[in-house]
Amino acid sequence: MANVKNGSSNKRVKKVILSIAVLAILVVVLKILDIPVVETLFPSLGGDTQQTEQNPTQQPTQIVETPEGTLIMTMIECGQADSFLFQQENFVALVDCGTRSTGDDVVEYLKSIGITKIDLLFGTHPHDDHMGGMYDVITNFEIGKIIIPKIKVGEVTTNWYLKLVEEIKNKNHTVEYPTVNTVYTLGDATMTVLGPLSEPDDNLNNYSIVMKVTYGNMDVLMTGDAEKEVEAEIIASGVNLDAEILKVGHHGSNTSSTEAFLDAIAPDYALISCKVGNKHDHPTAETMEKLKERNIEVYRTDESGTVILTITANDVTFNTDPDDYKSGIELAGGS
Ligand SMILES: [Zn+2]
Ligand SMILES: [Zn+2]
Repeated sequence: MANVKNGSSNKRVKKVILSIAVLAILVVVLKILDIPVVETLFPSLGGDTQQTEQNPTQQPTQIVETPEGTLIMTMIECGQADSFLFQQENFVALVDCGTRSTGDDVVEYLKSIGITKIDLLFGTHPHDDHMGGMYDVITNFEIGKIIIPKIKVGEVTTNWYLKLVEEIKNKNHTVEYPTVNTVYTLGDATMTVLGPLSEPDDNLNNYSIVMKVTYGNMDVLMTGDAEKEVEAEIIASGVNLDAEILKVGHHGSNTSSTEAFLDAIAPDYALISCKVGNKHDHPTAETMEKLKERNIEVYRTDESGTVILTITANDVTFNTDPDDYKSGIELAGGS
């Protein structure tokens, strides 16, 4: 600035012309790149500041944080499929991702609440209604770790699964194959793997990662589609299954939820993710009867849509009233 006084008027004119030229070139470049000129050159003049705040590219880290002292669990509506979100402080875990066709709904839901990163991404087992939507999830969010069962080479040959595995390899994602007793931490919450304990048979449901999510004195048992054999094996291991909240195995199918398993867990609340009129007739009358007999409150996506649980150290509240004990066939209007 001290030079201005001493500079000749000729120099000043040159400077002004140069400045105008630079500005003109900049405007042309911005126009070519289709970038709004006013907002870019003069951010303070940019009209809609709200839009700027919502732009995820300006928020490199997670912006959502749970209320202090809570674990938020969300059963995301995704048709005849599973997708469960856990949030503690600004840490995020997702257990299953909906199907190939409803993975989009899961992605949309996560984006709508401001999630940009998933620290722990679990795929319980390689069936479309649990991992079909995982491709959409890993291509839309920053991913910490992917935790999936180790599948024997050649055991699963569906195109969507091979495409998913290829994408995981290409992007160098960190993958872990869980073993029993492995504990994953999510802020102040923990996720402990309970099963399966042995090499599963050729039933892919029995690859399901079973785990206990613990926050304070509250426990949630996550089961994937694990069937009776896995339930029996976990009971036999002598692990403490007691949990206030149960994600009912296999969408309420009668291939899961034995009396012994329900009694070992002794839940107060049960979560069922399924779709009205699904071809498997989930949940079955048999399973619903067992839940009713035990006075377990049921929350289900086919009746309530997405269900949000606010879990504190000693309690849980739901964003909706409990649902009924109708079987899938009854709910669809059959006999
Ligand atoms: Zn399955
Ligand atoms: Zn399933």
